[in-house]
Formats: sequence, structure tokens, C-alpha cells
Amino acid sequence: MTHVSRHFVVKRTATGLGLFAVMSIAAGKRMIEYTGPIVSTKEVERRRGKYFFGINTRWSIDGSPRGNTARYINHSCAPNAASFVSGRQVWVWSRKRIQAGEEITMNYGQAYFNDYILPAGCKCERCMAE
Ligand SMILES: [Zn+2]
Repeated sequence: MTHVSRHFVVKRTATGLGLFAVMSIAAGKRMIEYTGPIVSTKEVERRRGKYFFGINTRWSIDGSPRGNTARYINHSCAPNAASFVSGRQVWVWSRKRIQAGEEITMNYGQAYFNDYILPAGCKCERCMAE
């Protein structure tokens, strides 16, 4: 368990690592930035990798550096957070009230889902409950 800020902690989950709230968070709060070097779409196509986050047709954020705490946020088909692009920044917002100790999740979208989640099957709370 690693405290990454006053508000978030990285902990082991059933499938790897995840980001968890230390204190409860109200709905509609800007929580955490998805950070990393800006790289071109061409570069993304050349290198691949699951931590690229497209901000427009030409540029993406390479979120692979460890300092990017938001990379620990796992996919969920019923997420409690969502990401929004603002200029060249990506911010993760709470979609609903998040309780202390709850894992932060967001929907990574169809392309990511098909490439990285579908092959092993989705392990999110909603899919595991079915
Ligand atoms: Zn799922």
C-alpha cells in the first residue's frame, strides 16, 4: 500500500494494482490529472502500449511514467469516475459520491476494452456480479 497523495493510495486488487480513495469524495469533483509527456499519434502507433491517452487526433499523453498516479485507475463498466480532456490536459472527475476506501474506476472505452480487457475477460465489479 503506497500513499500517493493525501487523497489517494495505491493498493493491490484481485487483478493487479488500483487507486483507492483515502477519504470520501463528493460527486462532480476534479480529482486527479492524467500526466505524462505529450507524444504524436504517429509515435503512439509505432510504440503501442496501454497507457497512451488520446487528447485529440494529433496528440496523446504517454501516461506510463510511475509519477502518473492516474495510471493506477482500473477500468470498470460501471465506473465512479470519468476523464475529460481540457486543452492538453486530462482530468479525472468523480461521477458520483465515492466512499473512503472505495476503488476509483473509469470506463476506458471500446478500443481499450477490446485490446486489453476482452482477451482475459472483464473483472470489474459489474461483470463479476453477472
Ligand atoms: Zn466490466
